[in-house]
Amino acid sequence: MVANQLRRRGIHDERVLGAFAVVPREAFVGSDQQDKAYADYPLPIPHGQTISQPFVVALTAAALQVKPTDRVLEVGTGSGYAAAILATLAARVDTIERFEDLANAAAVALASYGNVAVHHGDGTLGWPERAPYDAIAVAAAAPEAPPSLLQQLAIGGRLVVPIGNADRQMLTRIERTSETDYKRYIVCPVVFVPLVGREGWPE
Ligand code: SAH
Repeated sequence: MVANQLRRRGIHDERVLGAFAVVPREAFVGSDQQDKAYADYPLPIPHGQTISQPFVVALTAAALQVKPTDRVLEVGTGSGYAAAILATLAARVDTIERFEDLANAAAVALASYGNVAVHHGDGTLGWPERAPYDAIAVAAAAPEAPPSLLQQLAIGGRLVVPIGNADRQMLTRIERTSETDYKRYIVCPVVFVPLVGREGWPE
């Protein structure tokens, strides 16, 4: 997976590649899908949601430029796999999932990671108790960058979020350069499940 799906497609960040080498993906995949744990496509999890393709998780992690001292927020815990990758790269991770059973299952899968807290709630509103964040990853497709997440970004912090319609989005990196200024660029086109919440899409 690291050599063929990631390095060969242009992921060169050695810390990111190292995290993929140590996090066991099979621990986040259903028992009926163990043979596909390292497949090059998204895998289904309950509620019609998916674990993102490894390459897309790697692109997100690389665009976030996570440092070992960073405080990270992830919106859309799903299986917990991306949270485990981020936890390997950062000082601490808070991750939010809107489906309570997914949040509970991810908390079990992530139990051995002492620096991850899984929360159940609407991640479009962020997690203000622990803000600001040096890096925020949104793992679901938003109509626009949620204002609460922009607000909870530290100055110098990075937000990576897929922005677009239900069929197709642009993975977008937004860096907060001052109290009032944000710099954004597009990483690449992607397809994510929708971000459903107060600052996302309606139910
Ligand atoms: N990072 C995940 C990918 C999960 S797919 C993994 O590695 O497995 C996206 C997830 O976002 C889904 O589980 C979905 O339920 C969740 N989601 C969608 N809208 C949300 C919201 N407003 N707050 C929190 N989670 C949300």
